[in-house]
Parts: sequence; structure tokens; C-alpha cells
Amino acid sequence: MSATIRALAAILLIPCQYPLTAQIEPASAHVSLYFPQIADGGNFSQRWQTRFEFMNPHTQLPAAVFVDFMDDSGSPLMLNFGAGPTRRLSFTLPPRGSRSFATTGAAASTVVGWAYGSASLPVQATAIFRSIEQGAPKVDVTAPPVLPGHSYLSIANADLGVALGNPYTDAQIVVMLSAIDSSGAKVGQGSVPLPPAGHRSATLRTLIPALPPGFKGTVSMETSADPGGRDYFVAWTLNASDGVLSSLPVGTAAWPISHHDRIWLAYWKVLNAAQQTVGSSLGLNLFSPLVGLRIDPAREINAFAFGGDYIQINLALSQLISDSPSELGFIVGHEMGHIIRARLGNRAFFNSNPELDADAFGMLFNLVAGYDPYAGAGALAKLSMASGASGLLSQSLIDHFDVHRSDNTRISEMYDLLKEICQPSQFGGVCTAYKSLIHPNFPAGVPMAEPQRPSVFLAPQVGETFRRPMLR
Ligand SMILES: [Zn+2]
Repeated sequence: MSATIRALAAILLIPCQYPLTAQIEPASAHVSLYFPQIADGGNFSQRWQTRFEFMNPHTQLPAAVFVDFMDDSGSPLMLNFGAGPTRRLSFTLPPRGSRSFATTGAAASTVVGWAYGSASLPVQATAIFRSIEQGAPKVDVTAPPVLPGHSYLSIANADLGVALGNPYTDAQIVVMLSAIDSSGAKVGQGSVPLPPAGHRSATLRTLIPALPPGFKGTVSMETSADPGGRDYFVAWTLNASDGVLSSLPVGTAAWPISHHDRIWLAYWKVLNAAQQTVGSSLGLNLFSPLVGLRIDPAREINAFAFGGDYIQINLALSQLISDSPSELGFIVGHEMGHIIRARLGNRAFFNSNPELDADAFGMLFNLVAGYDPYAGAGALAKLSMASGASGLLSQSLIDHFDVHRSDNTRISEMYDLLKEICQPSQFGGVCTAYKSLIHPNFPAGVPMAEPQRPSVFLAPQVGETFRRPMLR
């Protein structure tokens, strides 16, 4: 077994000439970029400029980026970044590269709207709003892009700036706002309808007309689900106090998360990792034709690969995986493995069983993409629990995920492969970087473990009484 894996892995990996390191990026980097506010232009007493900054954290791969602009009605918004009016920015960031785009601010009256962007790898982006008064720059306020959420909470006063966007292109949504005073009592409410892809920005006193004078407290925003379940929106708040503007923390609920955006993130990270490793070494271009992604609302906990064309991730499976990007990365990587096999005439690489072979690809791509290579075990365990306890899984899922082998066997096979590929090889460096960053306290002898290091925390100490039981 071991020798077989080593031989197959050698065939697969030797052509990789470049150094590989597990990809680490800022927590705020994402492939989906929602900017809930844009402001441009105005009169001489006050006008606005919006500047977008983008950087690609990847050390080896370029990132293709586009950003589309929409007005309040959801129609394309034309903005001038110095090269004439455009409704879209489209550009490529080289590895570790950055770009900046600033509106000219020349519109005679202030134009507002919002933006949605997408990138082929996680990029870190920032919107910077500049207020220019009497021709002199007065203040810059920075805002990160946000993700859609089903609720949003912010500190507030009557002058609070609120920006809202509807991420759905096929339905109107209504955002309900509640003003809550400092004692926790609800003292006002308002509702803001947003057309498909539409936007609204105003002060809190405009959106909640009956707001008590001198209001100070918090604002809570949420939507009620429409019949299609469309209950997500994007929001952003801007503090205004004594006429001075300042930024506020992002108040999007941490849970539940936007599954669409999380699936797109895993897809792009894994697709790039797949191209970077086996794609290059096998003369396979996964970008041409591009391996497609279909996100399906079917009430079935499943994922598929359709020939060599595209992968499908059902929202139900993403919802089961829920809070683990790495487990989602493994599922995407497993399906990408089927795609690679299909594009190469169903050739076997690590294992003659196609499911075990796809598992191996999933684990390998996770390692290179900067996800946890142990996450396959978590994903399979959740599938086992969902099928065993509640009968949630359809027969097709069992067919797909349980062909010939038990989950225990699949986990054990992945463990053996991980031991193999973390031996000195092209992937040895990835394993070393990974274990020193992610698993520094693993016991010795386990793949992805390294010698124990002293704790660097000043207080509280992570003492031996805590650590010892973890090592047994
Ligand atoms: Zn499969």
C-alpha cells in the first residue's frame, strides 16, 4: 500500500518545479466583495471621492478581479476613475500585487450607490471615502467590504449614516430597522424596501422618522424571509459625532453565514491549488475550459462532479458543514478530484477506488490551498452523523459518498497518504510550514506534528496540567 502510494505520488508530484507553501491570507480577504456604499461628487462646499484599494495576498498566483457598480434602483452606475465613465472595473493583481482606483469626484451633485465584486483568489480590499470641503481634503474614512448577513447590529445616534444593499438580483427585500436606547428599550422602527440589486443610504433619523430627539443607543437591522428564503442583505454604518465622521466595526451577524459566498471562496481557493499542483504537472488547464461551479438549493445533502465540466455543491451540504471552511474545501477538492480524473480518461492516481482517489485529491488540495488537511475526517463524520441519526440523506448521497468503503476506511486512507506526502518531497515544505503554524502543539510522530515549543503566552499560562491530558 505504502509503496503504491509513494510510486503514484511520485508520478504525480515530480513535475512540480516551483516551491509550494500553504497559502495564508488576512482574515478579511475574500473572493466576494460587497461594498455597501459609494459616494462621488458634490458641490464646492462638500464633495466626495471613493477610492478602492486591492491587494493580492497570494505569493505565487495572480488574481483576476472585477467590481460592478449599481445605483439605488439596482441599475448599472457609471463612475469615472479617470479614464471615462464605466460601470465595471476589471483588472489582474500579480502575486503580492496591489492596485488603487479613485473616482474623480467631478459629478456636480453627489452620486451614491454600491458595488459588488468577485476575485479568482481571496483579495483584501478597502473602500476609502474622502470628504473635500472648500476644495481641501478634510477626512478619509475607511470601510472594509462586508458579506451578506441576515441581521446587523451597530452602535447608533440620530446622525448615524446607514447604507443598505440587496444582494439578490431577482427579488425585492425589506430591511427592518429598530432603534434601541441605552437601557435596551425599543424606541423606534422603520422599514426600507430595496429593489433587486438596489441600495439606500441615509441618516438614521431619515430612516426612522419618529426617532426621539438626542437618540443614542444601538440600531438592529434584519429582514424577514420572502417565500424564496431570500433574507440576506448587506449593510454598513458610519459614525457621525459633532460633525466628525469615523468608522465602526462590521456588525454583520457571525452566524448564520452566507453559504453562497463561502462556497465561492472554497471553490476559487481549491481550483487555484489544483491548477498549481496537478494541473500544471499533468498538462491540464482547469481554467480553459473553466471547471464550473453550480450552487444548488435542492433539499438534498450532496455534492457532485458532472463529467469534466463542473461541480455542484448543494446548499444543504454546505449548511451541514456549516462553520468549517476547511471541510467545505475538502468537499470541493473531492469533486475537483473527480473532474481531474474525468478530464484524463478516468485515470487513477492514488487509489483505484474513485471515491478514495477523490478523497486523496481533496486532502492534497486542502493542504496547498491553506485549508486543514485533516478536514476530510470532519466532513465525513458530519455526513455519517446526518445519515445515521436522522435519515436526512437521500439514497443518491449514500451511493455517492459510501461507495464500497466505510467512512473509517476513507479517513484511514487519507491518514496514510498524509504520512506519505509529508515525507521529504515537494510537499515536505508545505507540511513543515503548515505544522509550525497550525499544529505546533501536536504530539510528536503524528503527521503535521512538530517538536513541542514553550508557550509564549504571558497570562494565563497554558500549564502542564492542561497540556498533558491532551497528549495522551
Ligand atoms: Zn465522490
